[in-house]
Amino acid sequence: MSRFDYDLFVIGAGSGGVRASRIAAGHGARVGICEESRVGGTCVIRGCVPKKLLVYASQFAEHFEDATGYGWELGETKFDWQALIAAKDREIDRLNGIYHKLLDNAGVELHEGRGRLVDAHTVEVDGRRLTAEKILIAVGGRPWKPEIPGHELGITSDEAFHLDALPRRILVVGAGYIAVEFAGIFAGMGSEVTLAYRRDLVLRGFDEDVRRAVDAGMRGRGIDIRYQVSPARLEKRDGGIEVTFSDDSTAEYDQVMFATGRSPYTWELGLEEAGVKTGPGNRIEVDDYSRTSVDNIFAVGDVTDRINLTPVALMEGHAFADTQFGGMDRPVEHADTPAAVFSQPPVGTVGLTEAKARERYADVRVFRSEFTPMRYTLAGRKEKGVMKLLVDVASDRVIGCHMVGLDAPEIVQGFAVAVRAGLTKADFDRTIGIHPTAAEELVTLRSPVST
Ligand code: NDP
Repeated sequence: MSRFDYDLFVIGAGSGGVRASRIAAGHGARVGICEESRVGGTCVIRGCVPKKLLVYASQFAEHFEDATGYGWELGETKFDWQALIAAKDREIDRLNGIYHKLLDNAGVELHEGRGRLVDAHTVEVDGRRLTAEKILIAVGGRPWKPEIPGHELGITSDEAFHLDALPRRILVVGAGYIAVEFAGIFAGMGSEVTLAYRRDLVLRGFDEDVRRAVDAGMRGRGIDIRYQVSPARLEKRDGGIEVTFSDDSTAEYDQVMFATGRSPYTWELGLEEAGVKTGPGNRIEVDDYSRTSVDNIFAVGDVTDRINLTPVALMEGHAFADTQFGGMDRPVEHADTPAAVFSQPPVGTVGLTEAKARERYADVRVFRSEFTPMRYTLAGRKEKGVMKLLVDVASDRVIGCHMVGLDAPEIVQGFAVAVRAGLTKADFDRTIGIHPTAAEELVTLRSPVST
């Protein structure tokens, strides 16, 4: 009989923690997990899932507009924010219930409350001490706001999901995933949206063609993008929130949303007491097996700030459980992680950007196509999507695949298999296209734009 209450105790029942606990239990481990908020974590409760539902909701205005080009005559349309939020909350409750069942069915014991390390084998959850041979930290991250005067008047994505009313005028600060996604959501629903970014183009780190296409698509949807400015001060006024920008200009909004990044949720977790080392930005430092500086303590997901995406946390949690409890040797695999941004237009991407490809390979061939999605033709929309393949000339391998336009995330998921498998441009070329689709462009790109 083990001297511990559990073989594994997991702090945080989000994507990474739930996956790790279920897999470990499946391998025969006795597993406990604690959660201070709602089981499901950021992705299910206040991230990917509710965000995507809001994206769908926001796209109807465009569909209604486009419908007239296809012969439809629509009556008056009206949008009810509160009805949407209530429907979204019901769906999140349903998913939360499913997550509870998943833990139950796997035999994982849930302790509701905040977990804190007392020592390397003990976690305290709301005053109760539980011991475990191994501990997994999967507490995720939390939105972060710059500490400018009046920042408390602004919201983050956490609150954006529960606003009482749709803001008539909103300022979105930042130009990463969350900023561009929410700018599109609010604009689609009819808010006047301004996006302020301290540098010169949205989505830093993405391929330049992707960034330009998203910028153009957002502007085409009426979003006022202001570059080279940041809010310097927020003040409450009768009519709303007055924002003074870094260039001394001022403007008034009903809401200001900070989408300025997320921080690992490492505070008050007892890391020092247990001897767990943190690195830049307070992230927990781990090796390829998600092992921290303490032998029996592991960490997965956003708290380790490797690639902060749900499917990555799932993979990290799964690999950890297989290695520690399933007798397998599974280091994490971050190469060629595909990603999507549910901006409007959306982005799908896998592999290297053109800039990174040129840094890493001597000779890179670029294939690019700009296209108008077929659905836009009769609708009279001018927006162009972009598709891009990057090929290492020496091996003929496709090392990057990027797309902006309708269905890009759905399309690129399939192409991620090809890139991950190391397929060559010749493999792409001998694949027959599916006609008429946008995706067929990716197997019919014949002439490089530059070498
Ligand atoms: P990001 O790191 O993507 O973007 C943060 C943005 O805020 C950047 O534009 C950054 O500018 C800017 N910023 C940072 N600090 C300041 C400051 N002091 N003043 C002004 N601007 C500032 O973070 P997000 O919050 O958008 O998203 C967090 C993470 O969540 C993402 O990294 C992603 O991994 C994940 N996510 C994934 C989604 C998906 O898969 N579709 C959707 C939503 C989130 P700069 O470029 O200059 O640093």
